[in-house]
Amino acid sequence: MESNITRRNFVAAAGAAAVAPVSLGAAEKPALLGGKPACTVKFPSWPIFDQREEQAVAEVVRSGHWWRGSGKKVEEFEQAWAKFTGAKACVTTVNGTNALFTALNVLGVRAGDEVLVTPFTFIATINVIVRQHALPVFVDSDPETFLMDPKKLNGLANERTKAIIPVHIGGNCVDMDGITAFARKHKLAVIEDACQAWVSKWKGRNVGLLGDCGCFSFQASKNINSGEGGAIISTNEEFIDRCWSFHNQGRARRGTGEFTYTISGSNLRLTEFQAAVLLAQLTRFEEQIKKRNENAAYLSSLLKEVPGIRPAKMYPGCTQNAYHLFMIHYDKNQFAGLPRAKFLKALNAEGVRFSAGYSSHRNIPFLRELSKDRVYQALFGAKRLAEWEKQSFNLPMNERVCEEHAWCLHNILLADRSAMDQIAEAFRKVQKNAAELAKA
Ligand SMILES: *Cc1c(COP(=O)(O)O)cnc(C)c1O
Repeated sequence: MESNITRRNFVAAAGAAAVAPVSLGAAEKPALLGGKPACTVKFPSWPIFDQREEQAVAEVVRSGHWWRGSGKKVEEFEQAWAKFTGAKACVTTVNGTNALFTALNVLGVRAGDEVLVTPFTFIATINVIVRQHALPVFVDSDPETFLMDPKKLNGLANERTKAIIPVHIGGNCVDMDGITAFARKHKLAVIEDACQAWVSKWKGRNVGLLGDCGCFSFQASKNINSGEGGAIISTNEEFIDRCWSFHNQGRARRGTGEFTYTISGSNLRLTEFQAAVLLAQLTRFEEQIKKRNENAAYLSSLLKEVPGIRPAKMYPGCTQNAYHLFMIHYDKNQFAGLPRAKFLKALNAEGVRFSAGYSSHRNIPFLRELSKDRVYQALFGAKRLAEWEKQSFNLPMNERVCEEHAWCLHNILLADRSAMDQIAEAFRKVQKNAAELAKA
């Protein structure tokens, strides 16, 4: 079989060479096996910036006001972000991880509490729970959307459960109706991890406003970027005041002095330089959202036609996706059994940079060791920890998501529409040559 295909390609190549200077056979040969790449687009690199960012930073440098205590940029960005999202108030933090950490603390999640969370997330979401010595109780994923499945929440809340953290992975919206209904019933705080979902919308409403608060990241890879940075938004102004206190060493927001403290907090303040960059980034934001959405819709329509490729489903309630990631489902059975790693290698060789993201939480050493930790043993007891291991490491749908998903980063969606055609062509080419690639 292998030699037949090779011979057929050889004959095609030889035939084409006789009539045209460019060999058709060579053009169709997978790039991984020495052919020409199907996609020759030079995708926009990230971050995108110009003199707006340069001037903004230079102004802060010259002003001498480099921290929020003396400058105005941090507050200006907080007001702009609150306005942009429709929040009552916003406070920035050093990064998204510490936005989540602040929210957990202000909502009163303490050692010995339990928090419901998705396993299919960036490690930060899990780290903040464990740093608090709370127990991360994992909820199985919906294999179509890759998101926390509200239908899998039954039986997971007990008297120690204090909060739930749905994560809008890639910018795709979690079913917030299902999450908030469950949270109300069990009196849980809802912290939306919107660190990949800047103005994704659930039924027309911005994510981050559907529970108690929403946390954002402005780290270098994110759709709005200041190197590092984070924010918390809420419809509750008093809650944001308490977050402000926590992020500023426990000082009262409308307090009486620099050395009076109302709570125990930390120093998680953003600098004026970062806020100035964020304000500049915001000037391009709406235009970029529009472009990502148009390209994502078009690319989805093209990839749906490739057997074995399914763009991640969006719930009907997801009325806007931030598309931090363009996520797909890969079915190797439709690709002659070609393993995902090799599929991705072939696709990358064609000039289309997709990769596999998060692997199973079952492989994370500190989670495997958690029930042996002396603090956890003292707080939860052997019986609860044994139950937890059995439940939280046995999530079949999430295992499928981990094994079968792939994604590309948002900057790919900032290329021209014609680039989407070339991406789809690369997928089709790998699909056509799957059997040969599987054997190579
Ligand atoms: C990026 C990210 C975070 C953490 O944000 P940092 O700013 O990098 O600390 C948290 N959760 C998710 C889902 C993220 O993607």
